[in-house]
Amino acid sequence: MSLIEITDVRKSFGQTEVLKGIDLDVKPGEVIAVIGKSGSGKSTLLRCINGLETIDGGSISVAGAQLLPDEAHLKALRLKVGMIFQQFNLFPHLTAGGNVILSQTVVKKTPKREAEAMARKMLERVGLAEKFDAYPDELSGGQQQRVAIARALAMQPIALLCDEVTSALDPELVAEVLAVVRELAAEGMTLLMVTHEMKFARDVCSRVVFMHQGRVHEIGRPEEVFARPKTPELRQFLGVQ
Ligand code: ADP
Ligand code: MG
Repeated sequence: MSLIEITDVRKSFGQTEVLKGIDLDVKPGEVIAVIGKSGSGKSTLLRCINGLETIDGGSISVAGAQLLPDEAHLKALRLKVGMIFQQFNLFPHLTAGGNVILSQTVVKKTPKREAEAMARKMLERVGLAEKFDAYPDELSGGQQQRVAIARALAMQPIALLCDEVTSALDPELVAEVLAVVRELAAEGMTLLMVTHEMKFARDVCSRVVFMHQGRVHEIGRPEEVFARPKTPELRQFLGVQ
């Protein structure tokens, strides 16, 4: 069974077709890296899966339920599929704990005490148990991104979409965030991640999707995609002959 089934998905912005018929099956527990040049449609694909964009053609189903473009469905979907962005998007006036509590109480209507217990548990999971009362501006970028991950996990998603989650970080802070992602992968979380961290993709991912001009141009196991790229576009992207 597929956890996420993407069939011939198309998406345009005005006259520009950004996704030109994407097919992709994500199995439970799979960790998939999405790579490709800027503008190739990676973020748009993730946003479509999360229901942040409506699709113009094809279909997406998550855990067997087809994604329909009405608000009730999209809301249910956003509860099931978590997303983490390059910019951490934490509320600056709330503590780390407050940030992790808020989405649960607002979106999921979780009782405050329960949400707080979950927030403590998830902050501990990302190695930030002692930062519950810290405000975002008292945290490093890596710590803020780990709070954002805790916030997504607190919603108990069945899959997590990560869009360049280390791209805004200073180089020395990248590893701590990747370590958390690596742990989630090891625990069996289904992950679809847009990343420029090729070594990480090679080590952790079960498959790599190379997007080019709105299409899945190559897909395969990391050892195939990185060591034996089939198309000139992927060879050029990887900087190999
Ligand atoms: P990537 O994440 O691979 O860099 P994106 O999915 O962000 O690519 O963008 C793909 C293309 O879609 C780009 O040409 C971008 O300018 C365009 N695009 C993305 N979002 C919008 C939008 N909301 N309105 C208009 N064009 C958009
Ligand atoms: Mg992008």
